[in-house]
Amino acid sequence: MAGMPGHGRPGKVQHLIVVGSGVAGLTAALEAVDAGHDVTLFTKSDLAQSNTRYAQGGVAVVMTSDDTVAEHVHDTLIAGAGLSDESAVEVLCSEGPAAIREMIERGVQFDRHGSELAHGLEAAHSHARILHAGGDATGAGIAYALIDRLRESKATVHERTTVVDLVVQDGACGGVRLLDGSEVLGEAVVLATGGAGQLFPYTTNPEIATADGLAMALRAGAIAADLEFYQFHPTSLAAPGNFLVSEAVRGEGAVLVDDDGHRFMTDVHPDVELAPRDVVARGIAAQMARQKGKPVRLDATALGGEFLAKRFPNIDAASRAQGFDWGEQPIPVTPAAHYYMGGIRTDEWGRTSVPGLYAVGEAACNGLHGANRLASNSLLEGAVYGTRVVEALGLPAAPDDFGTDWTEPLAVDLGDTATDDDAESLTRDDLQQLMWDAAGLSRNGDDLARAAARLASWRTPAVSDAKSAEDANLLIVARAVVASATARKESRGGHHRTDFPDADPAQARHSAVTVSFARPDPKPTR
Ligand SMILES: Cc1cc2nc3c(=O)[nH]c(=O)nc-3n(C[C@H](O)[C@H](O)[C@H](O)COP(=O)(O)OP(=O)(O)OC[C@H]3O[C@@H](n4cnc5c(N)ncnc54)[C@H](O)[C@@H]3O)c2cc1C
Repeated sequence: MAGMPGHGRPGKVQHLIVVGSGVAGLTAALEAVDAGHDVTLFTKSDLAQSNTRYAQGGVAVVMTSDDTVAEHVHDTLIAGAGLSDESAVEVLCSEGPAAIREMIERGVQFDRHGSELAHGLEAAHSHARILHAGGDATGAGIAYALIDRLRESKATVHERTTVVDLVVQDGACGGVRLLDGSEVLGEAVVLATGGAGQLFPYTTNPEIATADGLAMALRAGAIAADLEFYQFHPTSLAAPGNFLVSEAVRGEGAVLVDDDGHRFMTDVHPDVELAPRDVVARGIAAQMARQKGKPVRLDATALGGEFLAKRFPNIDAASRAQGFDWGEQPIPVTPAAHYYMGGIRTDEWGRTSVPGLYAVGEAACNGLHGANRLASNSLLEGAVYGTRVVEALGLPAAPDDFGTDWTEPLAVDLGDTATDDDAESLTRDDLQQLMWDAAGLSRNGDDLARAAARLASWRTPAVSDAKSAEDANLLIVARAVVASATARKESRGGHHRTDFPDADPAQARHSAVTVSFARPDPKPTR
């Protein structure tokens, strides 16, 4: 534990509250029980509802003799487009193998060739290092095994229980507030609430991904970071639900073709279909614009129907449910919001700027993904950092520099986020469409200014049920995303501005978002 400076109140943690039951929350809860803490875990749907449950491609980890941690670090830094915190990446890659061995101990069954773990190749990885389970059902394989262990453990679990806010006293976090207004107190809270895909109308994320933890942390006065960086997955099925068509399909050899059957990515990037995600997503969006919005097609026919059904049973079923036989015909695909690089700023131990408050997984931003996430690094992040955070419990809040090169971040102050009671009420559909149009794959200053004005015209919903609590959270986070995208006048990783199309070395730094006047917690109205 040497080398862990901080500020604020340290203290012994007996009772730990974990919010969220994806890979990050489950890992943190199991580790904390093992370490002797009393653990209460809240999750707003059933335990298996999470982004984790839907992950397909797999987990990136160095577990073969021809691969090295240094190469995994290198690949991650390249994807991060100059913004990854190198030490956070090194932690991920070097501690990854132990975290995965622990997962296997806990019953996760990764696919094998004979007795050896099978390793797949994905875009922008220099080695075949992607472990998968059940073919393309990796997240489910992880989630259900860890849930079984949690149910057997001493942890107290509350399913279908929405946490609406944090209890903060004297600047330190000491519990959570539930929808009915009751408070549950503990010495520390770990937010593992996942991503924010529901900011957008087209997303691979399930309905739970409404940025709740990020919004709660902002209201509690925590610093958030890099909120302009959102990863759009290039290939979701262009059909209701936007079912994700994993990168691994392209890794196996499927190609993208336009309306004339031409492989258009050959004109975009030397790595063609395996170029970084943002490049492929924008390549597809540009091609769709050239063909009047018509989706492009993913041609996997060369792989054969039998192989596809065996290697990707879930995508196979989802395609067939929409009437596509992808062994015989190319399938229509479109980009969709997928992964949030930004989040609650933490150090490499999951510590936020608020004493007693910790964040891990997709809800957090410890700087490892930089401006863009390398495919299959996020399940690993949940496992590695979900383990580390337990070691940091009871320590003071993160140091002011978050233990990294957190120098002079681009400052984004949301100001007072309260609005007049007579302001317009929002609909989630309107908010999502606004975000897609102005803060989606391509942004520009004029659209962002219009979006900021529209978002400011909406009243923060009064919290009367889980949906209104989510809407209030989506609104504050949408404002923060637009403000951050406005402040970053360059293009980098997942953030692309048509009015500033190049990266600017002077802006190769994180952004930091705060709410200067944290409005009172939205008190439930019942
Ligand atoms: C379709 C899809 C495919 C993917 N494929 C891969 C892949 O192959 N490899 C990879 O590495 N990553 C993949 N990802 C990304 C990866 O799944 C996520 O980044 C990761 O699982 C996030 O884990 P988490 O524990 O941080 O959050 P989640 O798994 O999203 O869990 C968040 C939890 O918090 C709960 N919660 C949220 N708000 C509240 C609240 N207010 N009160 C109580 N509970 C709350 C939710 O109900 C949920 O249980 C994929 C994502 C998707 C959507």
